[in-house]
Amino acid sequence: MLENIRNQFPILTRSINDKPFVYLDSAATTQKPLSVIQSIDLYYKKLNSNVHRGVHTLSQWATDAYEQARIKVQSFIGAKHAHEIIFTKGTTESINLVADSFAKTFLKKDDELILSYMEHHSNIVPWQMVADRYGLIIKVVPMNENGELDLDFYEKLFTEQTKLVALTHVSNTLGTINPIKKMIELAHSHDVPFLVDGAQGIKCCKVDVQNLDCDFYCFSGHKMYAPMGIGVLYGKEKWLNQMRPYQGGGDMIEKVSFSGTTFNKLPFKFEAGTPNVEGAIGLNTAIDFILNCGQNNIIEHEKTLLKYAQMRLQEVDGLKIIGTAKEKAGVISFLLNNQHPSDVGTLLDMLGIAVRTGHHCTQPLMDYLKIVGTIRASFGVYTNFEDIDKLVAALQKVNTMLK
Ligand code: PMP
Repeated sequence: MLENIRNQFPILTRSINDKPFVYLDSAATTQKPLSVIQSIDLYYKKLNSNVHRGVHTLSQWATDAYEQARIKVQSFIGAKHAHEIIFTKGTTESINLVADSFAKTFLKKDDELILSYMEHHSNIVPWQMVADRYGLIIKVVPMNENGELDLDFYEKLFTEQTKLVALTHVSNTLGTINPIKKMIELAHSHDVPFLVDGAQGIKCCKVDVQNLDCDFYCFSGHKMYAPMGIGVLYGKEKWLNQMRPYQGGGDMIEKVSFSGTTFNKLPFKFEAGTPNVEGAIGLNTAIDFILNCGQNNIIEHEKTLLKYAQMRLQEVDGLKIIGTAKEKAGVISFLLNNQHPSDVGTLLDMLGIAVRTGHHCTQPLMDYLKIVGTIRASFGVYTNFEDIDKLVAALQKVNTMLK
């Protein structure tokens, strides 16, 4: 099903350090198919105009294209209403928006938030910032040695003061796919809303926000074959309607005067200023790309690659996989003997292989695991068995180089 996929990604034909390019860093950002690149090109050649403000034809066309993207996202994630889709810069901005807006609307001193040890800094720091401002308490769900959250502990964290759970769907460092549906049900049984950091989940799971019943789902376009600088906050209408605006500016208002300002309806209340129109159009095209590939095909493909990589990496002397949860996405973190991850990453780069090394913006997780970082290989729809074979061969070479 996915045979001719690589031809659609022009960047994969280039060489790096005089070697054919092996890209194993899709959890950081995916490469972009030609259709997405062309849609942005076409936008600037044929449609570029500011949205929502002009009566002229081009502005209306640009507005239509922007709003069509919103409808495409709505249907892709199964949201009830298009106005529950807020365009942002990415997951980070989506979470900051909820943290700021939810806290200033609903939270007070000694209210509690639940996060987990495997969160990305984007789903920790915004909460710490509002916790400082309002005197909130952050509680953290631990995990077992395989990198699976401790659900019994989670259940015991709820008190009368718990006001929100914010948790990642899929760990960008360990690859663990968390049982968020079950965790959302439990939070709701305590009347606590649930925010999902879907930065990784959106690419490797079929997401239906009504079925999950999450209150917020945040993701970035650039991790799902769309351009950088566009992301989504899905929020249930009942929350978004009550929440006070995040940023002020054009488009988010109904009436402005020096005696007071009233705000626009959803989704515009949360989209101050000129939005990223070309990004939204690119995201629309990326969703078409995913649907044309078949989401199930992509998920199966990544699972097959994961199994193959887990098997082949065992052939490398001294390699230890970090994160061995039963439910895993196409992300493998590992350590090589006692080598520093960045030394291994640099040597792999010289051999033409792009992996990520370091703490992966999950320093609390690194502290929890008592390691400084990992080497991480992550897959996309274009990754193939040969990429993994080349990684294994390169790691064997690195082992001899570092002896
Ligand atoms: N959460 C997770 C789990 C991530 O993997 C990332 C990106 N590495 C983010 C949040 C932040 O995403 P962005 O930088 O696109 O805002």
